[in-house]
Amino acid sequence: MAPPVFRFAPSPNGFLHLGHAYSALLNFDRARECGGRLLLRIEDIDATRCRPEFETAIYEDLAWLGIAWETPVRRQSEHLADYRAALEKLSVLGLVYPAFESRAEIARLVAAREAAGPWPRDPDGAPLYPSEATSLSADERSRLIASGAPYALRLDMAAACRHAPGVSWNELGEGPDGERGVVPARPEAWGDVVLARKETPTSYHLSVVVDDALQGASEIVRGQDLFYATAVHRLLQVLLGLPEPAYRHHRLIRDEAGRKLSKSGRSTGLRESRAAGLTPAAIRRLVGLG
Ligand code: GLU
Repeated sequence: MAPPVFRFAPSPNGFLHLGHAYSALLNFDRARECGGRLLLRIEDIDATRCRPEFETAIYEDLAWLGIAWETPVRRQSEHLADYRAALEKLSVLGLVYPAFESRAEIARLVAAREAAGPWPRDPDGAPLYPSEATSLSADERSRLIASGAPYALRLDMAAACRHAPGVSWNELGEGPDGERGVVPARPEAWGDVVLARKETPTSYHLSVVVDDALQGASEIVRGQDLFYATAVHRLLQVLLGLPEPAYRHHRLIRDEAGRKLSKSGRSTGLRESRAAGLTPAAIRRLVGLG
């Protein structure tokens, strides 16, 4: 049997903190425990926020922690053609449509709806895209595209859920409410998610799913902040005919005030901890992996 495949997939848009260390160490330990492989993926599709110095720092910090990964590292920015091919498959199924609004226009559309009553929000707390407000005829869409107007591509969630009903996943870890085992997915809670942004021909959801399949990831170990997004990932996997990995979501490391760590938080940065004289063993103890 092929060995299990794990991956750690940071975005180089800041320096790693204790939460990343925990996630990376869990992946590394799990891979070692079960004779598996550990791959690294740099999620650098957001050209406005990702920087080469953060990527270099990721390699340095992980190596300092004692983590070893296979090379070559997969850098998402080098694989846009793979995401385009997946988008094309979803378009052929009739599940993708162009959306032309700017962020400000979407905010105005949502505000108008919220003035009339409660408007649904996704599991991260962002208002759902008001798709019914923006539906254009096929002719209008073609005219706008021909005129060079920039557009994002969104998933027609209702159609996608009809196409792939009853999706679920196998949770080996735990969700925020103690969910484990077979978890029914509720991708509709996210509305018509973006599959390709105006400035880049993919999105987090699309590229993570394509890459996990191309890298052969069999057990996805990552933070509970991505637990509910797994519903979208599983839906896309089913629509694209990709294999189903198992998921192991882990608790998040929080600061003293109980907040999720951010990449700008100085006291919990790995570099700062190292500069302050902490050892990799101390980092392990700090995140509860003593
Ligand atoms: N790049 C994502 C992050 O840094 C992680 C994606 C994943 O593990 O699925 O939060």
